This record gives sequence, C-alpha cells and structure tokens, in this order.
Amino acid sequence: MTDQEVGVLAIGAGPANLALAVAIEESGSDELTRGTLLLEQSPDIKWQRDLLMPWARSQVSFLKDLVTLRNPRSRFSFLNFLHDQNRLDEFVNLATFNPFRWELSDYLQWVAANLEKVRIRYSVRAETIEPTRDADGLISGWTVRLTGGDTIRCRDLVIGGGRDPHVPEVFADLPKDRIVHSAQYNSRIAQVPKDRKIRPVVIGGAQSAAEMFMALHQNLPLSEPTIVIRSIGFQSYQTSKFVNELFYPSFVDDFYNSPAEVRAQILDEMRLTNYAGLAPPFLEEIYLMLYQQKRLGPRRSTVRAMTEVVGARMAGDEVVLNLRDRKTGKVEPLHCDLVLLGTGYDAGMPRLARALAEKAGLSEISVSRFHRVEMGEAAWGGLYLQGVNEETHGIADSLISVLAHRSHDILGDLLARRAVPTKLRSA
Ligand SMILES: Cc1cc2nc3c(=O)[nH]c(=O)nc-3n(C[C@H](O)[C@H](O)[C@H](O)COP(=O)(O)OP(=O)(O)OC[C@H]3O[C@@H](n4cnc5c(N)ncnc54)[C@H](O)[C@@H]3O)c2cc1C
Repeated sequence: MTDQEVGVLAIGAGPANLALAVAIEESGSDELTRGTLLLEQSPDIKWQRDLLMPWARSQVSFLKDLVTLRNPRSRFSFLNFLHDQNRLDEFVNLATFNPFRWELSDYLQWVAANLEKVRIRYSVRAETIEPTRDADGLISGWTVRLTGGDTIRCRDLVIGGGRDPHVPEVFADLPKDRIVHSAQYNSRIAQVPKDRKIRPVVIGGAQSAAEMFMALHQNLPLSEPTIVIRSIGFQSYQTSKFVNELFYPSFVDDFYNSPAEVRAQILDEMRLTNYAGLAPPFLEEIYLMLYQQKRLGPRRSTVRAMTEVVGARMAGDEVVLNLRDRKTGKVEPLHCDLVLLGTGYDAGMPRLARALAEKAGLSEISVSRFHRVEMGEAAWGGLYLQGVNEETHGIADSLISVLAHRSHDILGDLLARRAVPTKLRSA
C-alpha cells in the first residue's frame, strides 16, 4: 500500500475537473501544475459513459467546451482537437453546433492525454476522505483513502464526481437486478441477451428516460418497452435565446448575489430549460418512430402519460408496478421484467461530500462564490465542490456551459490562497 502527498487532489476526471486541470496547466504556476493529481475510477475517460448512444447529441454548443469561453486561443479547444485528429473539414460540413456525445467524449479523452504536467491516475476510486488537523485543531488538508487501501494526502481537495443517482422510494423493495438507473444503462443492458422478449418499463419523461426508451428498441430488438410519464407527456426543453442568456457564465454572479427566495424562484422558472424536457429534434424522432409503428407495425411501444407509480413488488418472477392514472385516479397493475429509472440525480450534496462535512464538523455545507466550502479563513486546507451548487450558483452549475469560467474562478482562489505566506497563517 502506498501513501502519496500532492498539493491539489481532484476526485473524478469528468468535464469539470478536466476543465480545471487545463486552467491549472495554463496558469503558468509550475508548483501548482506539478502538484495537481486527478483520480478517475474508470480505466479511461468517457462522457456519460452509460448513455453514450451513437446518436445521442450534446445539448450545448461545442463553443462551450472546456476552455474556449475563457481562452479562445487555448490549444485545448474542441476545434483544435478536431484539427489535430484531421476531422475539422468533415465536422464543419455537418453544420452543427451540437456534436454527437461520443465526439465530445473523444475530445475529453484527448484533453486528458494532452495534459503535460497535471497527472491523472486511472482505475482508482476515492472511497473515504478524512480531514487532517494541525496542532491547533485547524484543518490543514485531507487524506483520501482509495479502494485497495492506498492513501493520498493533499492540502486542497476538489470533488468533481458528479451527482448521486436518484432512486424514488417506491422502488426501494425491488431486487437490485430488476432496477437499472440511467447511470448504468449501457453496462446493464449489455448483460441482457438480445434474443430475450422482455418487457422493460422506463420511468420518467425527461432526456435520460427518453434516450433509454429509444435505445431499448435497438439494444433489445424483441423487447416491448413501455414508458411511464407522470406529466402530460414528452415536452421540449425551453430553448429561447432570451432564457439562454441565463446560461451565460456572467449570470452566475447575478444569481449568487440574489436572495435565497429569488434564486429558488429563478430555478423553478428555468426548470424546463434543463430538466423535465427533451431536445426538440430528439422529441421529433421519438414521435416519428411511434408514428411509423402505428402505421406500419409492429406496435411494440407504449407511452403512458399522466401516470405515476404508486407501488412496486415482485410476484414470482415478474415485477408488478401499480400505476395510478392521474386523470381518473384508477390504480391498476403493470406486469413487467425490468424497471429502468430515468429519474435523474439527487439535487442535494453527494454522499462523499456529506460524509466529509460531518467529519469536518460542519453543520451545513455553504459554498463561496469560488466553490470553496466555507470553513473559516484560518483553515489551511481547502475543499472545493464542482457541479453540485445549483442552489447557489444557478441551473448551469451541473452543465458544461460554465466550466471554462468556473475553472478560472477556482484557479484564482487556489493561487490567492498560495500567495498568503505560511507565517501569516499562525499569526
Ligand atoms: C445523459 C446526460 C446527458 C448530458 N448532456 C449534457 C449536455 O449535452 N450538455 C451539458 O452541458 N451537460 C450535460 N449533462 C450534464 C452533465 O452533468 C455534464 O455534462 C457533465 O458531465 C458534468 O461533469 P462533471 O465532471 O461534473 O461530472 P461527471 O461527468 O459525472 O464526471 C464525474 C467523473 O468522476 C468519476 N468519479 C466519480 N466518483 C469517483 C470517485 N469516488 N473516485 C474516482 N472517480 C470518481 C466518474 O467516473 C466520472 O468520470 C448531461 C448529463 C447526463 C446524465
């Protein structure tokens, strides 16, 4: 077992921490760059690995890559990736702002491979984190224990591991092998034999649910998928240019400085820009698929809108879902084999951050404008949280749109804290 020490340890090599790695590498600070390490639990980098369908597209412009909005001259831009890979002409010919998800995923892996000083350690999972304290009891850093027992100590920790999958309580009693969250879709569906005539039921009406519903038709060609949607049916994201302005990185300041009740109201009004809806071209594709089924057959798929699941149990080898029709109030059973949850992610702090806050003696997690958890100025070790601060930093916090600027903010804070001489700290 090994014990390593670094300056900045970043958990997760998804878009958020990769964007930070680029900002650090471009900072000109050799000490910071060489002292930064990213940990990734997978053997490589893939964007939304388990929903990486060949037809799935990015919902934001490629110009909002990891770096361009902060530094359009950076060698880490999406356009430079295309150029480097000899595919710029062909991409330009597509005439789109929304690349395929796999193409952006390739870009992320390329960025990782082209970092010269910031290191990435793959196939290691951060399991637990402990605060390290100095003689005065102040937090001086963090000790991260990896699966297998290795430890890494750092002064600054950045958690960028994404959010925890949301599994509604009603499914709690179903065996694990009958539930597939969208965060596991590809890996789990690959284990189901293609020639099985199964009855999968997808829960949810937003992008992840709809993508699983569509993919099931191809991945399991004999299956008869149903999708259960609580609302009036599939809806488009709100994509007006006016509301899109609220995704500008500069809006983060307005949002952060607003009173809590105003922030809550804005989030509520912006819900259909990012949640509970589908990208309009994809919505059209689903409609056409269902139309063709109706006219040409066979009719394999069922969409049940205005319906909610009020119970879930096993009966022999079948899953039985009790569905309540919200129009009539009538409850009736639906027999099926597999439940696929497109129920999104928990809005709150992820498990890793909550456990750590408790150990650090924080009654609540409060995050500064620079994404650093407030632990008092005297604390030497910093804890930064990426992608989980929607309540304070706005709806774009979990998205790629703001990553280039957010990395700049976190980098500035890391550098500013390093500019404070050690002796001032104990003064
Ligand atoms: C299906 C889907 C489509 C999306 N499409 C878009 C889109 O088009 N545009 C957009 O802006 N946003 C989109 N999003 C939002 C998405 O959250 C962001 O695009 C982006 O992936 C967030 O990056 P991240 O680095 O914060 O988290 P993630 O992308 O979730 O990356 C986290 C990384 O951390 C690793 N990790 C987690 N825990 C550990 C651990 N304990 N130890 C080591 N490694 C760990 C994971 O393996 C992963 O690689 C989409 C989300 C989903 C679910």
